[in-house]
Amino acid sequence: MSRSRLGRRFWASAFALLALALVLDQWRVRGRAELTVDSDLASDERLPLPVVEVPKRLLVLAPHPDDVLLAAGLIQRTLSAGGEARVVDLTCGDGKSPLAIRFLKRKGFREAQNDAVNYGLYRQKEDQRSVTDLGLNPTRHLTFLGYPDSGLWEILERSKKENPEAYRSRNTSADSVPYDNALRPGAPYTGNSILTDLASVLSDFQPDLLVLPHPNDHHRDHAATWYFGNEALALLPELIGKTRVLVPFDFHSGDLPHSLKRNFRMRPTRETPSPTTWQELELTPAEYQAKLTATSRYTSQMAWEHPFLPEYHGHISYMYGYVARNELFGEVQSVIHDEGFRRSIEMKALPARVGAVIGNVFTDLGRHLFGK
Ligand SMILES: [Zn+2]
Repeated sequence: MSRSRLGRRFWASAFALLALALVLDQWRVRGRAELTVDSDLASDERLPLPVVEVPKRLLVLAPHPDDVLLAAGLIQRTLSAGGEARVVDLTCGDGKSPLAIRFLKRKGFREAQNDAVNYGLYRQKEDQRSVTDLGLNPTRHLTFLGYPDSGLWEILERSKKENPEAYRSRNTSADSVPYDNALRPGAPYTGNSILTDLASVLSDFQPDLLVLPHPNDHHRDHAATWYFGNEALALLPELIGKTRVLVPFDFHSGDLPHSLKRNFRMRPTRETPSPTTWQELELTPAEYQAKLTATSRYTSQMAWEHPFLPEYHGHISYMYGYVARNELFGEVQSVIHDEGFRRSIEMKALPARVGAVIGNVFTDLGRHLFGK
């Protein structure tokens, strides 16, 4: 085949992929609008939500290292009011496939290059920097449990059986905690281990507020964290009636937020099968700024973004969609487990993921061709 024909073919494929990416983006944006139109509060005259009572002892259960952002303002407010805060990461976010790790290696994430455990260690460091921005001391206030990314739901399912076998991570091949700096290195990947660790943290810290993900969060690690957190709490009678439980508003349960413009406000708009009453915390300019800085630490989560989304407004990552003028926390009134709901949300999120992957192909291709 002649060189010019090859060139034409290349550009034709490139344009076809670009068109597909744009169509998928539009689909995604439409899907989001559907979820974020708040029928009762359609005008700008929105009803104020009750204000969150600032705790004295706040414990945040984060399924992955960056999920602390969901309560970044509340952590800062707790500290400035003289309270204490702790963060527990159930996983180190070591869920990347070998392909993703190769991709990160190309992007210059040398520490992530060998395997998924190194990737988990890299994400730990990002999180340590981020919680420092929020006013915490990572050595004392941030605990890694080291359970497998993308494995919490299966561990939860297995824990319902008698003598369940330890789960083996497809990413790290570990069936026990592989991190020396975790709470309990070598703890088998079982529901019992997770409950033991969570109960020991809860019992040591005695929080008056526990923040953990919504039970209907479509990300299974997040939903599983709800169940493990509540089960662990139920093991400690001294905390019953003393520890409030709130869920942050998480985009996994709907879609990206209303806007990634600076200074947007989040409103609770999703319909979930579990009725939830929402409260909010208005961030001060300083808290907002610190949350932006804390967000910028998660560079590994930004390597996957694509440049085509019109609502990015100069930011390079959906991660900044966590940074609103306010934070929302809800009280789940009753838990209704609805697999159909979870699947419908997953389907809505799919175009964004496909769009992001295609966008990255272009970013990479551009760098390759033009050496940027
Ligand atoms: Zn997460």
